[in-house]
Amino acid sequence: MKKILIVGGGTAGTMTANNLAKKLMPEIDRDEIEITMISNSSKHVYRPGAMYVAFHKSAGNEFIREQKSLLMPEINFHVDAAVDIQTKNNCVVAQSGKKYVYDYLVLATGCEVAPDRIPGLEEGGDWFYTYEGAKKIAKKFEKLKKGRVLVTVSFPKTENIPHQCGIAPIETTMMLHDYLTERGVRDDVEIVYTYPKKAQSVVDGLFLQVPTSNVLPMIFDGINVKHKTSFTLNKVDPKKKIAYSEEGEEIEFDILMSTPPFIAAKVIRDSGLSKAKDNEGWLPTDKESLKVIGLDNVYTLGDTVDLSVSKAGGTIHNQTDVVADNIAAEIRFGYPTESYDGKVIAVAQMGLSCGMPLWYDYEEDVKPTPCSKLGSFVRLGFNKGLYWAAARGML
Ligand SMILES: Cc1cc2nc3c(=O)[nH]c(=O)nc-3n(C[C@H](O)[C@H](O)[C@H](O)COP(=O)(O)OP(=O)(O)OC[C@H]3O[C@@H](n4cnc5c(N)ncnc54)[C@H](O)[C@@H]3O)c2cc1C
Repeated sequence: MKKILIVGGGTAGTMTANNLAKKLMPEIDRDEIEITMISNSSKHVYRPGAMYVAFHKSAGNEFIREQKSLLMPEINFHVDAAVDIQTKNNCVVAQSGKKYVYDYLVLATGCEVAPDRIPGLEEGGDWFYTYEGAKKIAKKFEKLKKGRVLVTVSFPKTENIPHQCGIAPIETTMMLHDYLTERGVRDDVEIVYTYPKKAQSVVDGLFLQVPTSNVLPMIFDGINVKHKTSFTLNKVDPKKKIAYSEEGEEIEFDILMSTPPFIAAKVIRDSGLSKAKDNEGWLPTDKESLKVIGLDNVYTLGDTVDLSVSKAGGTIHNQTDVVADNIAAEIRFGYPTESYDGKVIAVAQMGLSCGMPLWYDYEEDVKPTPCSKLGSFVRLGFNKGLYWAAARGML
């Protein structure tokens, strides 16, 4: 009996577990394969839903489900946090003390916000990347009648690693514009969007890819959003409500809507598998096979990897088949057969009722296209229904 262990019950782990169960059903039926998932929570969180909570478009409950309900019955599921990954012994030790042995391991523990890595940001800033954070900023937006909302974006210190969901700061800036317009206070609230000096390959731009960076000034000017390049946040004074940049500038704010630094999950940071800067924990990943470099029976995907592609569900949707196909091929033929081409496909929420389809890969940057109401219907439909089918491996 060969054992496949998946650590993490988020988007990446769930899609991959279900895809593996579908592909390997004959072997599962013959008791030749066992698939087990461990996750540190019994709940599955659709993370993009937090954006809608921040702007009072959802209370959030619709975006959280029981993890077990999303897994095919052939998959063994345990709520048990991984605490020690022992690749030499082919096992993962969990909080319960149980050792989960494996022939193939999939690490899919995502990433987490780390506002404490910028002095003053935890106390002085807000973010919509968690449901708690989104509820907190929603309360502030609800009361806001005048003043300045400052948008800041921080990247991991490790070169060429994006923050979670690269397009989210633009999506939420445009959602904020629409929300304040709906409330009739937009004229009295200044929105200032800033971007750090260096964002992966782009220097002094407004986005991490050139074509989008080039069109953004025009889009922001059209909705009266002020914009500023080369503002790399390095300190916040929560009492005075001032954000300071590495470049020596300071900007006052009433609300600081930040994209904080991100790091990998603690179990990965503690594992010694990553050589990323500042113990950020990104797993060294072969960009084609999606194996952890140097470990022949360990795969990874989603927000944990050290690839330059977006840390997004639209990325995972394209990675999961590669991982599942490669493990199935290794079991059946002895070697992996698939290769990831860097494809990311998604629909960005560019304001409360406008959606923009986007796609790119390792070779081609995103080409900005006009957003539309139809795009927004597709995006809202994905949030409310299609996501759960995708997580179940049905799309
Ligand atoms: C506000 C916001 C907006 C977004 N917008 C978009 C968008 O428009 N389009 C898009 O494509 N993507 C978007 N994303 C990104 C997308 O949600 C993530 O890329 C995706 O959720 C990452 O999936 P993952 O499985 O890698 O990580 P997660 O979904 O975070 O799953 C990680 C799992 O690992 C578990 N775990 C952690 N540590 C342990 C441990 N020690 N042991 C066991 N289990 C553990 C967690 O409980 C969790 O279940 C957005 C994200 C946010 C926050």
